[in-house]
Amino acid sequence: MTPQQITFLPRPGRADRRPPRHLADLDPAGRRAAVQDLGEPAFRATQLSRHYFARYTDDPAAMTDLPTASRDRIAEVLLPKLLIADRELVCDGGTTRKTLWRTFDGSLVESVLMRYPDRVTMCVSSQAGCGMACPFCATGQAGLTRNLSTAEIVGQVVAGGRLLAAGQVPGGSGRVSNVVFMGMGEPLANYKAVLGAVRRITDQVPDGLGISQRSVTVSTVGLVPAIERLTGEGLSVTLAVSLHAPDDELRDTLVPVNRRWRVAEVLAAAWGYAAVAGRRVSIEYALIRDINDQPWRADLLGDLLAGHLVHVNLIPLNPTPGSIWTASRPSAQREFVRRLEAHGVPVTVRDTRGREIDGACGQLAASARPAPHGNPPAP
Ligand code: SAH
Repeated sequence: MTPQQITFLPRPGRADRRPPRHLADLDPAGRRAAVQDLGEPAFRATQLSRHYFARYTDDPAAMTDLPTASRDRIAEVLLPKLLIADRELVCDGGTTRKTLWRTFDGSLVESVLMRYPDRVTMCVSSQAGCGMACPFCATGQAGLTRNLSTAEIVGQVVAGGRLLAAGQVPGGSGRVSNVVFMGMGEPLANYKAVLGAVRRITDQVPDGLGISQRSVTVSTVGLVPAIERLTGEGLSVTLAVSLHAPDDELRDTLVPVNRRWRVAEVLAAAWGYAAVAGRRVSIEYALIRDINDQPWRADLLGDLLAGHLVHVNLIPLNPTPGSIWTASRPSAQREFVRRLEAHGVPVTVRDTRGREIDGACGQLAASARPAPHGNPPAP
C-alpha cells in the first residue's frame, strides 16, 4: 500500500468514537433545550428525567405520561442504549456482581455491585482501559482504549439501581447508596465526563440519582492539576489517592505517573482538597509482599500522614495475570497496621470482595473470554 492510499483510509479518530448523546450527558437546562429541539414542551425533560433517574427506565412503552405519538422518538433520540450487558459474574451468594458491558463501538468495560448489610456500593469504570500503566493492575496492562462519556458512567449506576429496585439482588429491594470511581480507568484523566457523572449521580431526583456527595469516592493515581481543579468545584465527595509507596524511588515503579508528580506534591494537593471539602482523604495502599510492606515504609508513611485529615485503606494485593507479585504475609500486614496506628493514623484493611470473579481492585480487565475460575451457575 502506498503512503497516498494510507492517507485516504478512514482512521477511527476521537470524533468517530464518541458515544451517542444521552439524557444523562445533559444538565437540566440542556435537557429542556433538547426536548424543545424535538418540538416538545420543556416539561417533558422532567418527565423523562423521572423515568430514567427515579425509575431507571429507558423503555418508551413504560412512559405512559408521554403522548404515544412522541414517546418512541424522544426515547430514540435521548435515551439511546449505550451499555449492553455482555456477561455477568456473581459471587458471595449473589451480593457481589460484576457486569461486563459492551459499548456502541465494541469497547468493553466492567462495573461491580457490592451489597453489604448496611449499604450497596457500585464500583464504576470511567474509561475503557487505562493509560496509567501501573504494573500490578490488570487494567493498566492493556492500555487506554477511550474515555467513557458521562452517560456511559451514569448508566452503570442506573443499571445497579434497576437490579436492586427489582429485588434481583439477594437481600430484598434496595438502592445504590455509594458510588466509587474505582473500576477501570483513571477518573481524573477523563475529568469533564467524570465531573458530569458526579453531578448526575448526586443531583436531587429527578435531575439526578440523588445519592449523597459524601457517599461518592473519586480515586486517582495523583494527577495534581486535576486534584486542584476538583478542589475548586466545591464538592464534598471523598478523594482517594492511590499512593502505594511513601518514597518516590519505589512509587516511580509502582505508579509510573509519579515521575511527573512526586509523592510530596500529590499529598500537598490532597491536603488542599481535604481542607476545602472538609473530608478525610483516603490513601489507597496495596500491600505487596516484600515490595512495599517493610516496617520502615510503614513508619515513613505514618510520618507523612500523621496529623492530616486522612484515612488509610490497605488493600491486600489481588492476583493479576502475569504478575509475579503477591499479597503481603499476614504478619507483615499486621505490623504495617500497627505502625500506622502508632503514628495516630486511622487505618483499615479493605476486604477483597469479588476476587473469585476477577472483580476485586486491580482485576478489571474486561476480556470477553470465560473467567479462568468459571462462572457460578446463575441463581
Ligand atoms: N485509576 C484510579 C482508579 C482505580 S481504583 C486509581 O488508581 O486510583 C482501583 C484501586 O485498586 C487503586 O487504588 C489501584 O491502585 C488498586 N489496585 C490496582 N491493582 C490492584 C491489585 N492487583 N490489588 C489490589 N489493589 C489494586
